[in-house]
Amino acid sequence: MSVFVPPDTLLPLEVKPPFRHVRGYGYEALLPEKFEAMGNIVGQSMRSPLEFCENGKALPVRHAQNIGIWYAGGGHYNHVGRCIYFSLPDNSDPNTNGRRYTVRAPKALSPQGGRPFPKRVHVVLSHTCNLWCRICREAPFSGPVMEMALFDKIAGECFAFATELRLDSGGEILLNNRLPSILRRAAEYGLPIFASSNGMLLTPKKARLIAESTVHHIQISVDSPVKETLEWIRRGANFERIKRGLRNLVRARKDVGRPFLISIHAAVMRENVRQLPDLVRFASELGIEGVTACHLFAHDCMGIDSSCFWSQAEYDDMRARAIELARSLDSFFYGPQPFAEAAENNCIAGWCDYPEYGTYINPDGTVMPCCIAPNFPLGVMNTQSFTEIWNGERYEMLRRTYRTDAPSLARCKACLVQEHLQDYMAFFSPAHWEKVRRKMEASSHRAQNFAK
Ligand code: SF4
Repeated sequence: MSVFVPPDTLLPLEVKPPFRHVRGYGYEALLPEKFEAMGNIVGQSMRSPLEFCENGKALPVRHAQNIGIWYAGGGHYNHVGRCIYFSLPDNSDPNTNGRRYTVRAPKALSPQGGRPFPKRVHVVLSHTCNLWCRICREAPFSGPVMEMALFDKIAGECFAFATELRLDSGGEILLNNRLPSILRRAAEYGLPIFASSNGMLLTPKKARLIAESTVHHIQISVDSPVKETLEWIRRGANFERIKRGLRNLVRARKDVGRPFLISIHAAVMRENVRQLPDLVRFASELGIEGVTACHLFAHDCMGIDSSCFWSQAEYDDMRARAIELARSLDSFFYGPQPFAEAAENNCIAGWCDYPEYGTYINPDGTVMPCCIAPNFPLGVMNTQSFTEIWNGERYEMLRRTYRTDAPSLARCKACLVQEHLQDYMAFFSPAHWEKVRRKMEASSHRAQNFAK
């Protein structure tokens, strides 16, 4: 993929009214066509280096979701395609307030002007978790926590060029005693953070810590609004405690007065698919903006029966109802496309751009392409510089081959990020494929016999 790097002569670029009013506090500014190739890809890639400025001052919340722009306002904005979708810090109308609007790329793209550094830096602080969810691990697990010196090295080498720090992989971030220092370090670089948590440790103090940080979006993994289902999926969880945590977070956001997005995230499976509309209602009643969902990926530790791959019509139906309810509540539900639509249009689940725009660093400093390939180290931050790793032969080989039939990382060939949605390989770990094929054959035989 070629990356469009705006020449200095194009930036800063003044964007003049009229700005189309979209919804709530949200407006749209149209950029020249050239900027399309560097825009964020909704729900997938926060890669745009552009800042949107009012009278020369950047608006406070980059890479925001629509819902944050429309309803929280306060300077949330996002660059998607040719457009900047934005709200203003005082929620005024940019068509009539007489102020000047510009886009700029404030950061150098790489230390030596070579290949642009990754925009999304995933840092796994630890794989330790206080839960052992069925969708993730077989038993409680605790592992090493990233040393602060290593985190500082990553920050020093990568944060000046990044547009988003992602603390959304591995274990539970709120278990980490170093979290206040980590959030402070990100704030020194003005780096927006996407974070996720299981919500069990959201005390008033920790909720305030999040509210006062540069977190622009935190998603809390709540797969079900029903106590029994949630506690069955998330072993070790306590439904009432998570609910209290969510209330603490919503309250802290209000007290601090900084707009950021809070959403609930669910892995959809047979056990909770019928609860999706109720999950939207649950979020809305707690003052949370909305719900995002992905399909369960059946890891080796799970059986194959929980996957929605076997209950496609039910998922399509529940998705439609969740969206309809969300609209009526001024909320949102974003879930994978309906299966019926995907089959008709041969849709792919997504578009991977990790090797060009993202990187994934483990607690021990090993650098990986993404969270899907845990055994493909590209270098080690403890002993190498990030420049060396990012421009190294292993990374370059991955970039050359990951969209071909012979990728250097074999997993790219059947990856849930790029896979066709109707393809079973996107839903099950390779260890399950044989069993899944047998089950598909058996059900197609049953269907044929039934039709006779
Ligand atoms: S396994 Fe390959 S295709 Fe999948 S997310 Fe990782 S780099 Fe992208």
